[in-house]
Amino acid sequence: MSATWRNWGGNVSARPGLVTEVSSIEGVRGAVRTARERGVPLRVAGSGHSFTPLVATDGVLLRVDGLRGVLDVDRERARVRVAAGTPLHELNPALQALGLALPNLGDIDRQTLSGAVATGTHGTGVRLQGIAAAVCGLTLVLADGSLLRCSAEEEPEVFQAARVGLGALGVVVELELQCVPAFRLHARESGESFAGVLASIHDLADSHDHVDMHWFPHTDRVLVKRNDRVGPGEGPGPLPAWRRRLDDDLLANRVYEGVNRLLSRVPAATARANQLSARALGAREFADDSWRVFCSSREVRFVESEYAVPRRAVVPVLTELRAWFERSREPVPFPVEVRFVGADDVWLSTAYERDNAYVAVHQYHRMDPSRLFAAFEAIVAEHAGRPHWGKVHTLGAERLGELYPRFADVLAVRDRVDPDRRFTNDHVRHLLGD
Ligand SMILES: Cc1cc2nc3c(=O)[nH]c(=O)nc-3n(C[C@H](O)[C@H](O)[C@H](O)COP(=O)(O)OP(=O)(O)OC[C@H]3O[C@@H](n4cnc5c(N)ncnc54)[C@H](O)[C@@H]3O)c2cc1C
Repeated sequence: MSATWRNWGGNVSARPGLVTEVSSIEGVRGAVRTARERGVPLRVAGSGHSFTPLVATDGVLLRVDGLRGVLDVDRERARVRVAAGTPLHELNPALQALGLALPNLGDIDRQTLSGAVATGTHGTGVRLQGIAAAVCGLTLVLADGSLLRCSAEEEPEVFQAARVGLGALGVVVELELQCVPAFRLHARESGESFAGVLASIHDLADSHDHVDMHWFPHTDRVLVKRNDRVGPGEGPGPLPAWRRRLDDDLLANRVYEGVNRLLSRVPAATARANQLSARALGAREFADDSWRVFCSSREVRFVESEYAVPRRAVVPVLTELRAWFERSREPVPFPVEVRFVGADDVWLSTAYERDNAYVAVHQYHRMDPSRLFAAFEAIVAEHAGRPHWGKVHTLGAERLGELYPRFADVLAVRDRVDPDRRFTNDHVRHLLGD
C-alpha cells in the first residue's frame, strides 16, 4: 500500500494501490498498461483542488503534474498546445510572455489545466464562458493505450464528451487552447447592501465584463468586485506590493484563519464576526494584467458546494438562502459567492446551452458543512440547479440525465472508448452509472 492521498479541502482521502508520477506521454501509456495488466482502475490526480471524490481510488493514482509547459504556439490564430498537468499559475505568465491570455479564469490559479477543464472550472462574465470552452483540441491516452487527438473536426463526439470529461474517458495529455491577446483589467471593489445588490443584480452583471459578489451570511453586506477591460496605460496602476500583502496574505489569509479557528470553538459569535469581516474588506481600485486580477491566494481551508442555476433564478435562490440563514442561524463564517457565466456547447458543462448564475456556499474545514449543504441543495433543486463537478453535491446519474440534454451521448462515447471502465471509481459510477 502506498501513502494516503488527500484533497486540498481535506474532506476526501484515498489509499491508492500504486501512485505513479509521469513526465511523458510514454509514461502515461505505461501507467495505463500497468492498470490493465493488474485489472485495477486508474484515476488521474491534478492538484487535488476538487471537493468531490473524483480522484479517489484504491487502484492506480496517476499524477500528471510532471507533464507541463507550453509545447507549441500558433501566433496567427492565437492558439497554444499545452501539456495537461501545467498549473494555471505557470500557464498564465507563460501566455503573457507570448502576448496572450485565457479569456476568463476562476479565482485561484493552483489547479492543473487538465483538472480545471475536466470539472468545468469557470470564472464570471455574462458574455464569457468557462475554461473548457476555450479548449479547441485534446489528446488523450485511451484505455487500450492508444493515443487519440480530438477537436470539433476530428472525432467530434469524443471532443464534446471529453472536454468536461471528469477523467472518465481517458488520460488527457495535451490540450489546445484558443487564447485572446493579453489584456488588462480595471478592478473596482466595494461593500454594498444585500437589498441594493439584489435589486440591481442583472444590470450589474450586464454592465461589466466580470462581476463577482461575496455576501457574508447573517449580515446585510456584499463585497462586489467589478472588473472591466482597459487598454494599455488606461486606468489606475497595480496595487502596491504592501497593499496586496496586507489584503491577501494578512487579512484574507492569516487573520481570517485565526478568526475561523476561534469561531469553530465559539460558533455563536459568527454573526458578529461576519459583520467585522465584511467591513474589513474595504474598497479598492486598481488595474493589472487580467490573470493577476482574476486570481488570488486562498490559504484558509474550506469545503464548498456550488450550483449553476438559470440566470433568472438568482434572486429567488439568494432570497431563499437568506431566509434559511435567518431561520436556522447556522454558523457559517465564509461568504456566499455569486457569479454569472454565458452558455456554451460543452456536453457536460454546467453552462451547456444555458446562461447561468453560479451560487457557491463554503464552510470552514473545521466546522460541519452538512446542514448548510443539504439546505442549499434543496433550494437549488427547485431551480434546475446543475452542480459544479468539483464541488460537494449528492446528485447521481438519474437526476444528472434530466439536467444534461446530451448525457446519453456522453455515456455512448464512454462505452466506445472505455468499455471495461478502466477510468472509474465509486463516485464516477454514482455520477455516470456502471
Ligand atoms: C480554493 C479553491 C478555489 C476554487 N476556485 C474555483 C473557481 O473560481 N471556479 C471554479 O469553477 N472552480 C473553482 N475551484 C474548483 C477547482 O477549479 C476544480 O475542482 C478543479 O477541477 C481542480 O483542478 P485540479 O488540478 O486540482 O484537479 P483535481 O481536483 O486533482 O482533479 C479534478 C478532475 O480532473 C481529472 N483530471 C485531472 N487531470 C486529468 C487528466 N490529465 N486527464 C484526465 N482527467 C484528469 C481528475 O481525474 C478529476 O476527475 C476551486 C477550488 C478550490 C480548492
